Amino acid sequence: MMTENQETEDRPMEKPDKIRVLIAEDNPVAAETMKKSFKKIGLELAGVATNGIEAIKLALSLQPDVILMDIMMPEMDGLEACRRIQKHEMCRNVPVIFITALADTENIVKAFAAGGVDYITKPFIKEEVQARIMVHLKLKKAMDKLAEMSVTDEMTGVYNRRHAFQVLSREMSLAKRKKKSFVICYVDIDNLKTINDAYGHNAGDQLITEVVNGFKKVIRSSDYLFRMGGDEFMLVFPESELADLDSLVNRLRQELHQKKIRRIPIDFSFGFSKFDPTDNIAPEKLIKKADRCMYVQKMNKKNTDSKHEH
Ligand code: GH3
Ligand code: MG
Repeated sequence: MMTENQETEDRPMEKPDKIRVLIAEDNPVAAETMKKSFKKIGLELAGVATNGIEAIKLALSLQPDVILMDIMMPEMDGLEACRRIQKHEMCRNVPVIFITALADTENIVKAFAAGGVDYITKPFIKEEVQARIMVHLKLKKAMDKLAEMSVTDEMTGVYNRRHAFQVLSREMSLAKRKKKSFVICYVDIDNLKTINDAYGHNAGDQLITEVVNGFKKVIRSSDYLFRMGGDEFMLVFPESELADLDSLVNRLRQELHQKKIRRIPIDFSFGFSKFDPTDNIAPEKLIKKADRCMYVQKMNKKNTDSKHEH
């Protein structure tokens, strides 16, 4: 009978599924050996760079899953290429595994300091390279998932409050650089508590989801939507003026006013604030301004409603 441990130990190595590898290796004979070995273990060759500069270019254009990087190469060595590759947003998290004849501690330490995730010395054993690649891809997958979760609102799948502050800071810098303004809109659903109380929390959740779907339908792909918490949302419209948003807001209103939860039309309150490139305010302040505007609108509505009731 097999114990659980034995089963784990004896489990055959998972076969890599279309893993695209970029090789950076200046020696054509060594590159050819690597190509052949990697083919045997099921890796797919994305490309071969013969120096550091080419490695950067190919990393950006080919978007490989993993980079196997030599250290000593002409034009630019592998250490510098690794550093530069990781400065690019598009390639920041691609694992770079050094594979080199240099076996001294100084180079090993330098390679990790440059951002390499692993270090293999030549002559390499292909199964070991495969095993290491698999570990790093598994780790990357987990890290990507964590990164995604940290910016996502679990219930609706849109960006969360934490990410709102990151995006606003970035948009403020961009607006200053481009000398262009942008607008944010703060939204709060009306009477969600009443719907919860009358029809249950699930109906309230459904209402939140409907609102998110409505937003998604009308905003542009360059706009941002955040769930700030509970029934509060924030929209960011990069490179925009308040006047540009009239028609979008009308469409949003129309879209959401048509939706109904148990025949109760969905309503909500909006507030805007504009960031001017000459402004020097913190993201929190900009949000607060829009939130206050929204609150005034909500109070006005409530006053009007109560007058109608009397
Ligand atoms: P108002 O018109 O003044 O906005 O009133 P409201 O009932 O919408 O209340 P308010 O915006 O002050 O507070 C939001 C309420 O929404 C509080 C809570 O009962 C409810 N809520 C917050 N998060 C959720 C959620 O994830 N699901 C559901 N179903 N309800 C939520
Ligand atoms: Mg509300």
